[in-house]
Amino acid sequence: MAATLRDGDGKLSLTTRIMIAMCAGLVLGVILNIAQIGFINTHVVGGLFYMIGRMFVNALQMLVVPLVFFSLICGVAGIGDVRILGRVGGKSFALYLATTATAIAVAILIALVVAPGNGFVMDGIDTSGVSGREAPSVWDTFANIVPRNPVAAFANGEMLQIIFYTITLGVAVLMLAERSKPFVEACEYMNEVMMKIVQIVMAFAPYGVFCLIAKTFTEQGIGLFLPVLSYVLVLVGALLLHLFVTLMLFLKLFSGLNPFIFLKKIRPAQIFAFSTASSNATIPITLRCVTERMGVKNGVASFTVPFGATINMDGTAIMQGVATVFLANVYGIDLGLGGYITVIAMAVLASIGTAGVPGVGLVMLTMVLGQVGLPIEGIALILGVDRLMDMIRTAVNITGDAVVSTIVAKGEGQIDMAVYGDPLAGEQREDDLHIDEEAEVVLARAAQKPGE
Ligand code: ASP
Repeated sequence: MAATLRDGDGKLSLTTRIMIAMCAGLVLGVILNIAQIGFINTHVVGGLFYMIGRMFVNALQMLVVPLVFFSLICGVAGIGDVRILGRVGGKSFALYLATTATAIAVAILIALVVAPGNGFVMDGIDTSGVSGREAPSVWDTFANIVPRNPVAAFANGEMLQIIFYTITLGVAVLMLAERSKPFVEACEYMNEVMMKIVQIVMAFAPYGVFCLIAKTFTEQGIGLFLPVLSYVLVLVGALLLHLFVTLMLFLKLFSGLNPFIFLKKIRPAQIFAFSTASSNATIPITLRCVTERMGVKNGVASFTVPFGATINMDGTAIMQGVATVFLANVYGIDLGLGGYITVIAMAVLASIGTAGVPGVGLVMLTMVLGQVGLPIEGIALILGVDRLMDMIRTAVNITGDAVVSTIVAKGEGQIDMAVYGDPLAGEQREDDLHIDEEAEVVLARAAQKPGE
């Protein structure tokens, strides 16, 4: 254990420091929530912590679009064959749908057995001001994957459109073979630069995570859970079951890889997902975990990870399943088998078209509820606890992305098993941020030149 907590020089590893920061933030947040010291809550938590947390999330988001672009171009060029690309795309799409459908089906079953919300008393809960959203048609969802204006797609961070455009560009680059070499080399260089920026941002992670978690728990506290405790318990249980059992069974059955090693290596990405509640913002870290810690080749990871962050939302689907059963119980409405099958189909489809950003699951839930005829205002019941539930389900979402990425990579022979088996592979150390000795010599020489 000690070997994994500390790096070779005996310093605490970055993952350990991030975990310590997370626990410290949680404890401080709960204390501040109970103490309710006006000045601290307003100026320290709502001011300083808010600012540092926001800066950290912004820094992660700033990386997403360029990182996905350059790593995907390198990925497509590295795969070198459009047919293999099609196979990777087909396999990951099928696996993403399968894991999400399994997730929500199991969640509904558990919720039906435990029956949260039976006998719920609705006193004191303000259900006004909650409005629903129309579900976009399946045809629109697919049609919108093709961007009319790629610049707008990049500017707005429309992930599916960016992936579509970049892959098309990558295929054209492949077709131009030799002539594309300088462009591909430039992209490879930019990809390395982006990964270096990820490392720099990661070095600030303990502070960012501490502030984000402390702020959330100061604002939310734990008292909010009591009125909807049955919902929270069933939801967290179903999420953990999916994370530790269903997904690990998928991993073992389809790839034969060791789930314990996987769970250890994906932990940094889970912590980031938990702190930011955004699969999209976590893309740089998920990519880093999957490639550098697990040995998945960039050709597969550069495509499956951003694709999964957008279309694969197992945790979100689980929330929708449990929430639907909970609200059906609260309102005394029997949805019947047909109703639940509709919920499964809607949740899977809705997850394809919506980006992995905080709170989007709740918006999707309004579509699902509308579809099966449950009152949309019911969402107000679970609104108070949704931020914390969002944090947990986002960690489940990105774990699903990494599982599928690893399975597809194993099936395609695109994983370095020596890296997968090495407990210290890709573990970031503070020293990583120091400039390489070789680079120092080059820079020193460059600095001397003017005076020569
Ligand atoms: N926050 C989740 C994600 O980014 C989506 C959601 O459930 O709201 O994956």
